[in-house]
Amino acid sequence: MQLKILPQTDSKEKISDESQLAFGTQFTDRMFLMEFDREKGWHSARIQPYGPLSLDPAATVLHYSQEIFEGLKAFRRADGSIALFRPKDNISRFNRSAKRMCKPEVDEDFLLESLLELIRLEADWVPKSEGTSLYIRPTMISSEAFLGVRPADQYLCYIILSPVGAYYKGGIAPVKIWISDHYVRAAHGGTGEAKTGGNYAASLMAAKEAAENGYDQVLWLDAREKKYVEEVGSMNMVFLYDDKIVTSPLGGTVLDGITRRSTLKLLADMGYQIEERAMSVDEVMEGAKNGRLKEAFGTGTAVVISPVGSLCYQGNFVQLGKGETGELTMKLYKQLTDIQYGRQPDRYDWVVNL
Ligand SMILES: *Cc1c(COP(=O)(O)O)cnc(C)c1O
Repeated sequence: MQLKILPQTDSKEKISDESQLAFGTQFTDRMFLMEFDREKGWHSARIQPYGPLSLDPAATVLHYSQEIFEGLKAFRRADGSIALFRPKDNISRFNRSAKRMCKPEVDEDFLLESLLELIRLEADWVPKSEGTSLYIRPTMISSEAFLGVRPADQYLCYIILSPVGAYYKGGIAPVKIWISDHYVRAAHGGTGEAKTGGNYAASLMAAKEAAENGYDQVLWLDAREKKYVEEVGSMNMVFLYDDKIVTSPLGGTVLDGITRRSTLKLLADMGYQIEERAMSVDEVMEGAKNGRLKEAFGTGTAVVISPVGSLCYQGNFVQLGKGETGELTMKLYKQLTDIQYGRQPDRYDWVVNL
């Protein structure tokens, strides 16, 4: 397939003070778009001016949520160059999500090449200040107009870009975690391991409950027994328990995070023993009280590493240590961001230069 570059006329004004950049509120001048139908397969790939999509009100995505997405970042290095972090991992996960949701898969090499071309054209939009980046959002929606539940015959796949500010403006800061004992995120056999819109719509109620109680994020328990910790909002969870690393196994209900994967690799190389096992909420709460649970953090593209300061479960509040960012958490945050921004060599072949 050929990628067409359509003429671009206007360009939006960029936020000149990069400390004012938020997350996901501003988008660049161009977008990538391609279309699918059963006869032609994927076709009409192009980079075109960013703007509204035209969708029939009966488009199935608007009724039955046939949607998947990805999230990754491009980083500006000190020498001015631009690099992406593990984009192939994101694109292959995009296809795994597509498969789970009965959507057509994409040609991974073509999507990566198109993405790189889009970023080359939008290079001026990659911010330069410490901690900023260009957030990349590949998306696939069903666009066929019909009311009925079956895999659609028409789809759109597009990529939009958003310059984002440093997540931690005043330095890395711990979050307060609300453990939901009522709502669940993902059941066995469900769609927990797919990055699909419906999962997030279904999570809003628990997030509202957490916010009303003064908490930042929801930690989900498994749906079967409501006993084992799974993941947080859009982050995987990692615990430093005694001197071992514990994280929930993937197993279909937990998203296979690329930051999780990277973090576990760094930890293994530091010599930590890693246990991918079910960890009960009682073990977490007890461990926080008796000091065996030394550190806990979430991992995800948007935040990189998010330290946990305290947890609340069924009215019981526990603080981790002094409620401050743990030493290992800090070290991992630094190691990962040093690789992303090119301040340290990339021994793992994670970085793709533009
Ligand atoms: C995206 C996401 C993550 C983190 O994945 P990364 O690849 O590290 O960004 C974790 N959990 C959920 C539910 C997610 O949507």
